[in-house]
Amino acid sequence: MTARIIDGKMAAAALRATIAGRVASLRYSPVLAVVLVGDNPASVTYVRNKDRAATQAGIETRTIRLPAETTQAALLVRIADLNADPAVDGILVQLPLPSHIDSAAVVGAIDPAKDVDGLHPVNVGLLASGRRALVPCTPLGVMKLLTGTGVQIAGSRALVLGRSALVGRPMVGLLLAADATVTIAHSHTRSLADEIRRAEILIAAIGQAEFVQGPWIRPGATIIDVGINRMPDGRLAGDVDFDSAAKVAGAITPVPGGVGPMTIACLLENTVEAAERRRGQS
Ligand code: NDP
Repeated sequence: MTARIIDGKMAAAALRATIAGRVASLRYSPVLAVVLVGDNPASVTYVRNKDRAATQAGIETRTIRLPAETTQAALLVRIADLNADPAVDGILVQLPLPSHIDSAAVVGAIDPAKDVDGLHPVNVGLLASGRRALVPCTPLGVMKLLTGTGVQIAGSRALVLGRSALVGRPMVGLLLAADATVTIAHSHTRSLADEIRRAEILIAAIGQAEFVQGPWIRPGATIIDVGINRMPDGRLAGDVDFDSAAKVAGAITPVPGGVGPMTIACLLENTVEAAERRRGQS
């Protein structure tokens, strides 16, 4: 068997076009504030990409760049200002923050209605209790890719590999809401290969390059590879060994070009969603 490739670039382009249409029908431009503390090169690149994608969709961005030595108290003041600013619809604090700042305290200070990363405890709790919430962008993008493949989610056995607050945990909430039977695995899971072999849908988000091997995979399974790992030769690889997995799976996302592009598109969708909820539909 040779797996169908799930094209995240194409799916993200279609989603961005839909969002641009939705923005064009509003009487205002939604505003996304992005806070970047320090000059971590990967974070600078992410923020630049988010800014470009937002602008193309008609979303106004305000990037607030603060020096690495910014104190937590000063950052919290900036967050409070953005919370109080009626023109700002979405607030995103680029993670990771410098080690002297408590990320949980900063994320917890964002107005949940403007929390477009979906990481505020109120939004986490809403998702966990099966209610409508602003949901973290990467798992939201994964759900859209799954839906786009036409794979049956309801009733399927889904395995989420990785239990981070950013990806694994919210992924479980979304799959449960879509009526999958969900297992979550992590570094303490015994017989991981057996767990993987049972999964009809596998979401891999562990940050271990090419960890999941083709022979572990159930024939015909749908594989969504969230991992982004830089290899010694400079290329990017996922958490799944693509070549061996593609021989067994029914459908699989490539890395790059799979989940990554959907993450940014979903950030734009969350921003429009937050704007519409705050300001009404038009
Ligand atoms: P974290 O490091 O926060 O979490 C990793 C999780 O994987 C932990 O739960 C850990 O278990 C588990 N894990 C690690 N090694 C193993 C192993 N050998 N077997 C089983 N479980 C393991 O990572 P993130 O969730 O933030 O990111 C995961 C990957 O996804 C990374 O490659 C990251 O770059 C990528 N990513 C991609 C995005 C995109 O847009 N495509 C967005 C966000 C992340 P334990 O909890 O027990 O330690």
